[in-house]
This record gives sequence, C-alpha cells and structure tokens, in this order.
Amino acid sequence: MRLPVLDPARLQRTPRKTRRFDGPFVDRAGRKVGYLRLSITKACAMRCTYCRPERIADTKGEPRLTPGEISAVVEHMALRHGLHKVRLTGGDPTSRKDLTEIIGRIAAVPGIGDLAMTTNGLTLPHRAREYADAGLQRVNISIDTLDRERFAELTGVDGLDRVLEGLDEAERVGLWPIRLNSVVIRGRNERDMPSLVRFASARGIEMRFIELMPMGPLASNWAERFVPEAQMRANLDPIVRRWAPVEQGHDAARRFRVELDDGSWGVVGFITPMSCNFCAACNRVRLASDGTLYPCLMDKPSGTILPALRPRFDPALFDTILAEGLGQKRDEHPHDGHAVMTHIGG
Ligand code: SAM
Repeated sequence: MRLPVLDPARLQRTPRKTRRFDGPFVDRAGRKVGYLRLSITKACAMRCTYCRPERIADTKGEPRLTPGEISAVVEHMALRHGLHKVRLTGGDPTSRKDLTEIIGRIAAVPGIGDLAMTTNGLTLPHRAREYADAGLQRVNISIDTLDRERFAELTGVDGLDRVLEGLDEAERVGLWPIRLNSVVIRGRNERDMPSLVRFASARGIEMRFIELMPMGPLASNWAERFVPEAQMRANLDPIVRRWAPVEQGHDAARRFRVELDDGSWGVVGFITPMSCNFCAACNRVRLASDGTLYPCLMDKPSGTILPALRPRFDPALFDTILAEGLGQKRDEHPHDGHAVMTHIGG
C-alpha cells in the first residue's frame, strides 16, 4: 500500500484547531517541557521545621483548581504539546479529599506515561491501594530520619511508624519504584544519612538527599544549616566502598550506584539545587493549587493560568500564558529562593 504524500503547504493551511499536535512547549533556552509538577493544595498534616512552622489548620477557603480544571490542563498539554509526566505534590496531595478523583482523571489522559506523587506518607497505610487503583503509578516519600523522636521533632508528628507502614503498603500495592527523600540539615539529621542508605538499599529503594534551600523557616539561618553535596558524600564515605555514577538524563538528582561496606548495593541520589544546578536538563514547569504558574522552583511566579480556565478552558489563551511564562524561565535558577515551598511543592 502506498502512503499518501503530505504536502507541507497544505499542512500549513490546516486550521489550527483541527491540528492534533502543536509541538512541545520550548523555553527560550530550547528546553522542551514535558513534565508538569502540580501542587494541588497547601494543606499538610506535618509541619516540618524547615518547610513550615505551623500546621495550616483551615484550608477550607483555599482557592484551588478543581479536578475538572486540572484534567483540562493536563489533557491539553498532553494531547497538543506532548506532556508525558505529571507529579502531584503540595502541601501534601493526600490532604485533598478529591485526590482519588484527580488521580483518576489524570491517569485517563492518553500520553501520560508517568503519574507520580510526592507525599509525607501518612495516609498510605489505608489509602495506597485506592490511589493505585485510580491510576497512580509511584510515590516518593519524605523521610528525614529513622529515629522516632527526631522524626517527631523535625515533622511535628509522631508518625514514623505510620510512614514506614505506608511504605510497606505502597510497595505491596505496586506503587513502584518508590524513592525516599530526605532534606539534610546540619546539626539535625546529618547523622541519619548512613542508616537511611542502609535501610533503603536493603529494600531496593533509591535514597535521595536534598540540599536545604533558603526558603521557609530556615531561610534566615540557611548558611548554618546547609550541607553541600560534597559533605553529604563525605558523611556516607565510611559505609560506601564504591560510587558508580548513573547517567542523569532529565532527572534533577545526581545518582550513584553504591557498593556498601557489607558488599550489598544500593542507589543514592543527590538533589543539589544550591551547589550544582540541574537547570540545563530541566524539562519541567510548575503549577500551584491556585493556578499560579512557576517556570522554576527557585524563581518568582510568572503569573496565573486562571484567565485561561474560567469561565471555561481557553486553549489558545492557556498556550499564550504558558509561552510567556516559559519565556521567563532562566538558563540557571537564582539561589535566593523566591517561591514558598508549601505553595509550590518542591
Ligand atoms: N508533603 C510532601 C512531602 O512531604 O514530600 C510534598 C511537598 S514537600 C514541600 C516536597 C519536598 O520538599 C519534601 O521532600 C521536602 O522535604 C522538601 N523541602 C521542603 N522545604 C525544603 C527546603 N527549604 N529545602 C529543600 N527541600 C525542602
């Protein structure tokens, strides 16, 4: 069978709205955006000392995108612009009662090959199956220490056992691969790094250490609390025999396969926004729960997508707003942390 020859001139004349694919969003540095990080609420049951000082008790009045608005954005970005990866974050995404609906709607969008969530893990013991059944594929769980008291001090919740139970349940229901995230804070949890690596490696889970960013409650004494990647690696050297780098791709983490002192192997990643930019490979854009658009985690927002959503979704206006936002995405992020972590979601 002969395939029809496509005439480029005719394609050019095809009215825009009948074309199925408009091409990826590309920022001014030529980076293609295929990854949306969606912060769906500011609410979180924890109040990590480095993230937020107080539990946000009343988030009832919080302006939030609805599940329908979220799926309109994701569907448009996927079908017209090649979005393929979505991560739900917050606050904590599990604080939203309609989370399962949101997961289900995003999972139903063709082209979304990777649907993940970053969570504190507290709801996983009883909800992991529901999330997986709705279409969630994997989770990253924050865990800064395996010491119960220190966990309570750092997070404001005596919840280590529940988080560990949640990890078991997430694994049982197939929310996999799981990654564990830990923000390393001088004088707080540096000493917990080796036990976290041993724990994660024994379960075949990647352990990621995040450099503290100058945002949130520790912003003013960030310099005293910051632990750079080089120091983190030095902290792990006593238990690591070999560091074998893994290719980075679009991943924000610099990853290593590590051989431990007992001969076992694990994977350790470092997310190093302060000492080593991962900006050149950045393929992401961020949307906060109220529709604020952040082209970069560390930069100020570029605006809001609300005019393109209400009263109904306007794809052309959405594209204009996103293109304007991406026009502001810098080649390298600033280091002074304009954004609020509880708003943007890390
Ligand atoms: N509630 C979820 C959780 O616990 O993972 C998702 C939101 S939380 C803001 C996302 C990530 O940002 C967590 O891993 C958290 O530890 C990290 N984070 C919060 N404040 C930070 C800071 N100042 N510097 C670096 N990472 C931070």
